[in-house]
Amino acid sequence: MTNTPADNAPLKILCITGWCRNGSTIIGNILNEIPGFFHVGELHFLWKNAAGRGVNEDCGCGRKLVDCPVWSTVLPVGQPAGITFVEHADAVIQRQLGSVRTRHTWRVLRGLRTEQIRAHAALMTQVYQAIAKRSESRVIVDTSKVPGEAALLAHLDGITPYYVHLVRDPRAVAQSWSKPKEYVYAMGPGKSTGYWTGFNLASHAITKRYPQRSMFLRYEDFIADPAGTIERLLRLIDSDPAANPVTDRTVELHTNHTVTGNPDRFHTGATVIRPSDDSWRTGLSKSARRTVAALSWPLSRRYGYGAADSNGKG
Ligand SMILES: [Zn+2]
Repeated sequence: MTNTPADNAPLKILCITGWCRNGSTIIGNILNEIPGFFHVGELHFLWKNAAGRGVNEDCGCGRKLVDCPVWSTVLPVGQPAGITFVEHADAVIQRQLGSVRTRHTWRVLRGLRTEQIRAHAALMTQVYQAIAKRSESRVIVDTSKVPGEAALLAHLDGITPYYVHLVRDPRAVAQSWSKPKEYVYAMGPGKSTGYWTGFNLASHAITKRYPQRSMFLRYEDFIADPAGTIERLLRLIDSDPAANPVTDRTVELHTNHTVTGNPDRFHTGATVIRPSDDSWRTGLSKSARRTVAALSWPLSRRYGYGAADSNGKG
């Protein structure tokens, strides 16, 4: 392949942060339809899931991650000679736990201060470049939603990260977590909202550090205007807004290669983005609402979710 200027341009990574159940999977899959874009799903969990340590070993294409034509070429990247893949994966998981957990976000933003984080940065640089090469893409959409990993991106050579801090009403999130999904366990409102607050605070630290390359987005605003939201995202990363694959509220989805995410990721074909699910209004108990209100304040108010008060108004 000839070396064109485009090959030397930094690889763009559109990184979606925030707490889970915020609609990142569908946004990633919409962007995946644009030529030159590739949605990796929750890349952070690649090693855990491929090694059988997670809850879900399937790629969005329906194959096991280890058998997928994309991930089978990416998984060996950075694996030292003389050890098995599972041993390599366990080492990666240990480095993730020691360096890019949510509480490490602020430290990662300040620089790569430990041997562990430098080793993880070196691996992720190689991995993203391998993904770009294998998928022939110049924009990778990563919906890991792990703030420590998001903060790391700014330190990777040859990579320009863009950040979307995506939030959703903590009451709707708590309601969503109250029911297990295909391969996702359930979580109580206290735990769900505690994570919601922690992940959103860490996401603020990142977007405050890189304001020119960041955007704040409410899931509810995406649902109200999917096409307009995708256009804003394309402008953020300096891409052609005419490439927007959403017409009215519909997008034609093809096979993707997402590493975990919402179980809807396996859905292909014409997909309508439906109005927001507000079943929490009737499904969430009063005590659950009180818990959510106590743990999400004052962020919930700042995001326009009222006071997330226990009477369900606002
Ligand atoms: Zn695949």
